[in-house]
Amino acid sequence: MDDQGRGDAFDVIVVGGGPGGSTAAWRLAKRGLRPLVLDAAVFPRVKICAGWVTHEALCDLDIDPDKYPLTIQPFDLCVLEFEGARHHTAWRRPASYGIIRREFDHYLLERAAAAGADVRWGNRVTGVEQGRHVVAVQTEHGRFEAPLVIGAGGHRCPVARALGDISEREEVVAAQESETRLPAEWVERLAPFMRAPELYVEGDLRGYGWYFPKQDFVNIGIGCTGGSDGSLPRRREALIRALRASGRLPADLPIESFKGHAYVVRRQAPRRLCGPRFVLVGDAAGLARDLSGEGIGPAIRSGLLAAEAAEACLRTGRPLHGYAEQIMALYGPGEPRWLERQLGRLPESMARVAVRLILGVAAARRRIVFDNIFGMREAA
Ligand SMILES: Cc1cc2nc3c(=O)[nH]c(=O)nc-3n(C[C@H](O)[C@H](O)[C@H](O)COP(=O)(O)OP(=O)(O)OC[C@H]3O[C@@H](n4cnc5c(N)ncnc54)[C@H](O)[C@@H]3O)c2cc1C
Repeated sequence: MDDQGRGDAFDVIVVGGGPGGSTAAWRLAKRGLRPLVLDAAVFPRVKICAGWVTHEALCDLDIDPDKYPLTIQPFDLCVLEFEGARHHTAWRRPASYGIIRREFDHYLLERAAAAGADVRWGNRVTGVEQGRHVVAVQTEHGRFEAPLVIGAGGHRCPVARALGDISEREEVVAAQESETRLPAEWVERLAPFMRAPELYVEGDLRGYGWYFPKQDFVNIGIGCTGGSDGSLPRRREALIRALRASGRLPADLPIESFKGHAYVVRRQAPRRLCGPRFVLVGDAAGLARDLSGEGIGPAIRSGLLAAEAAEACLRTGRPLHGYAEQIMALYGPGEPRWLERQLGRLPESMARVAVRLILGVAAARRRIVFDNIFGMREAA
C-alpha cells in the first residue's frame, strides 16, 4: 500500500483515510467500484482522540465487538462529575466501547484495501479542482483524476477548503489528550479506577475533561469551545491536579505528553456538504456532535451515505444533493437545537442550575446526556 498503484482509472478519489474515508472506500469497493484513498500520514498513525465509540458506529461498520481483534473495552457504566457531585449511570449491556485510534483506523483502512480499494498513504493532497467532467487532485507525488471526490481529510480537509465554502463563524473545539499504555503493575495499582470512564463537566459549561481507561491504556484529555481564548492549558493543569489528588494519576506514573487538536462541531454555519462532483464526510463536513464532540460515529455513517450517493451518481446519474438532505435529516441543519438554544439564553448561573438538575435525575441524565448528546445507548 504505497505509491505503486494497480493502475490509475478510479471512480472516486477519497481524500483522507480516517474512519470517514476508509468506511466510504470500503463500501465503494464492496460494491464493485474503484476508489483511490490518499492520506498524508503513514499508517498506523497517531490520531488525537479519546477513542470512545458507540454501539451504532460498530454496527455501521459490521464489527462485532467480541470478534474485533485489537484493543476494545466495553462499558456499561459511566461517571459524570459536575461541581463536585458524582453521578453514576449504568446500563444492562454495553452502551459504548473504548478503542485505540491508532489501531482502529489502521484496521479499517487495511480492511478497505482488502475489499479492493487502492490505498496510498504518505501522500499529501495539496490541491483540488472541480472541472466539468472530472475532479483533479494534486498530491505531493502526482496528480489524479476521477469523476467524483469524497473529502474525508478531517478538520483541515483540502477538499473542504477548496469546495466547502467554509465560514468564519464556525465554532471550533480545541482539545488536548494524552494516551499511555500502562505497564502491568500500574494496571493493578489503578484497578479501582479502571472500570468506567469518567467525564468532568467544566464549571463554566464550555467543555469537559475525561479519564478514560481502556484495558491497559489510560486516556486523559480536555476539550472546550472557544479554545482560542488560551484557556486550554489552564483547564488541563486543573484537571491533572484533580486527578493527582484523587489517586487516578499518581505523580510517579509517567504519561505520554499532551497533544492538541482543533475541530468543528455541528453548531453554526455548516459547510457546503456537496456539489456536482464532491461530497464531504466526517470532520471535513463538520459533523462531530455538538456538546459532546462525538465524531467517529458521524464520520462512519456519513462515509457510508457518501459511498451510496457516489455509487448512485456514477451508475444512474442521480445528483449528489440527496446526500446533503440525508445529513441534515440525521444531524440537523447545523444551527443550535432546542436544548442548546435554551441553555445559551440562560445566564451562566442559571445554566449551571439547569445542568445540575439534568445530571441529578438518572432518567434525564441517561436520555439527554448519554443518548442525545453522546449517542450512547445499549444494543437493542
Ligand atoms: C482530543 C479529541 C478527542 C476526541 N474524542 C472522541 C471520542 O472519544 N469519540 C468520538 O467519537 N470522537 C472523538 N473525537 C472526534 C473524532 O476524533 C473525529 O470526529 C473523527 O476522527 C473524524 O473522523 P474523520 O475520518 O472525519 O477524520 P480524521 O480521523 O481526522 O481523518 C482524516 C485523515 O485525513 C488525512 N489528511 C488530512 N489532511 C490531508 C491532506 N492534505 N492530504 C491527504 N490526507 C490528509 C489525515 O492524515 C487523517 O488520516 C475527538 C477529537 C479530539 C480532538
